Amino acid sequence: MIRRNRAFPALILIAALLLVSVALALDYKYVALKRGKKYHYPTCEYAQRVDSRLLLYFNSAKEAQAAGYKPCNTCKPPITD
Ligand SMILES: [Zn+2]
Repeated sequence: MIRRNRAFPALILIAALLLVSVALALDYKYVALKRGKKYHYPTCEYAQRVDSRLLLYFNSAKEAQAAGYKPCNTCKPPITD
């Protein structure tokens, strides 16, 4: 019983860290192909067609533009958020 009580806070911490990392991984609004020139909504057909390892993730349009990407002509992501 004592051992279990000691492990309990550590388990809570691990669970919390996992939740935070999942939340961070999902916290993006736009994606861009690493070798492409456009940024897209994650739902855009161009973004969905490629392997996720070839994508970059952005939290804002400004961030995507700062990285040198232009908005996609198909899914039309905003220029400013
Ligand atoms: Zn697109």
